Parts: sequence; C-alpha cells; structure tokens
Amino acid sequence: MSPREHVVRTEAIVLRRRSWGEADRILTLFSPQRGKFRAKAVGIRKPRSRKAGHLELFMRSMLLVAHGRELDIITQAETLSAYRPLRDDLLRSAAASYAVEMLDRFSPDEAGGPAAYALLCETLERLCVVPAPDVVLRYYDLRLLEIMGYRPQLHTCVVGKETIVAENQHFSPGLGGVVCPRCAKTTPECLPLSLPALKVMRHLQREALAAVVDLSIRPGVLIEVEMLLRQYTQFHLERPIRSADFLHEVAQHHPASPT
Ligand SMILES: [Zn+2]
Repeated sequence: MSPREHVVRTEAIVLRRRSWGEADRILTLFSPQRGKFRAKAVGIRKPRSRKAGHLELFMRSMLLVAHGRELDIITQAETLSAYRPLRDDLLRSAAASYAVEMLDRFSPDEAGGPAAYALLCETLERLCVVPAPDVVLRYYDLRLLEIMGYRPQLHTCVVGKETIVAENQHFSPGLGGVVCPRCAKTTPECLPLSLPALKVMRHLQREALAAVVDLSIRPGVLIEVEMLLRQYTQFHLERPIRSADFLHEVAQHHPASPT
C-alpha cells in the first residue's frame, strides 16, 4: 500500500478536545462515513498553527486524516461551518454541549453514520439561531433515539398492545414506550405521562425539524417531555448526561440573546 492510501479526506464535527503534550490536542470527531473517532492535531496549540482556527469545538470541517500507528493524525483542516454563536453565547454553547454529549455517549467508537451526522449538523445550525434551545433539543433527543435503535413506542401500549386513546397515560423506560392506564396498574416502574406531553412527543417524532422549530409549547409540558426522555435515555446509558444539568443552570441565569 502506498503512503497516499493512508490519507483519507473526510468532513467531521468536533465533539470534544483535550490538550496533549506540549502543543497538540486529541480530538473526538464525528464523520458521516466513520462515525465517532479520535485523532491527534499535532502542533495545534502553537500560535502560528494553520489548523488552529479550523478545529474549534462544534465546528464542521473538511479534514485530511493520516493513519497513524496509535492515533490517526489530522494533517489539514478547513472550516465548512464555524457555528460561531455556539462558542460566543453561553446558553447556545451549553445546548450544543448537550447535543454532542448525547451523540458521544450513544455512539460506539468507529460507528455512527450519515443519519446521525446529518441530525447533528441540522441541530447545531438551528441552535445558532433559535431564541431558546428546548424544542430543538427535544426533537434531537427523539430523532437520535430513533437512529440509535431506541425509538419510543407512542401509539400502542407496550404491555397489552392496545391502541393508545386520548387520555393520560404512563411510560415505561425499560419497555420503551407508552403503557395504558389499565396495564400500568400491574407494570412496575412506570412514569406518568400526560396527554399533552404525549401529543408533543408524537408530533416531534412525526414532523421534520423545520416544521416544529417555531412551535409554542407550554413550559410545563416541555419540562415533562424532557424529564421523561431523560429517564429513558439514562435507562439505556446507565449514567446521566452531565451537560443536561449545566444547561438548566445556564438557562436560569442567562436567557438566550438575539443573533
Ligand atoms: Zn395496555
């Protein structure tokens, strides 16, 4: 194999970065073909590094990646979308951190793919401009769960298979969907799920992001949906998403700024 074949051109989004050695960084990246992978950016912390401005957190960049013995090496980087508001505004930044942490936690190394990548791009783009991130993030939660094979069942009872009718329901994180009031009496560890929250979840599951982004949803209902999805997510990940609490803290003290 010639050395050229060891270099791959790919676009990717920076999920995480940490300093390494004197002037390097190790990045966790997500690309459409490869999913999640790690690579080293050599010399990136030097003042005159040509890669520096192209590998900031949340950026989407075109990379040349050389196969290395232990870690792959990024030999060139050029910004495709800077998503600058995600680094300039604390609330947007916290929301983007939540999105990348979810993807990072749900994706095994060297796995993922085009659907998750497209979802992340679309989400980061929206988070740059929306006045508040909540609806975009709940859409993201539901879509990511679906892509990763955990689509919650919202139309038939996961215990008795009855069609769900328009009344308050329950939800079982372990069984992955709605439990009707009758079955809920005998099903352990069910959470209450109000009819308005169920309707919102169904709507988000059915529509495209562009169609839901301007929805006005009562704050109490949004919180209910968030808490339910958080418990469902946590059931599968076995640990909480750390950025979720941080995002809440930031949102309380720092309302979104107009762009
Ligand atoms: Zn049932």
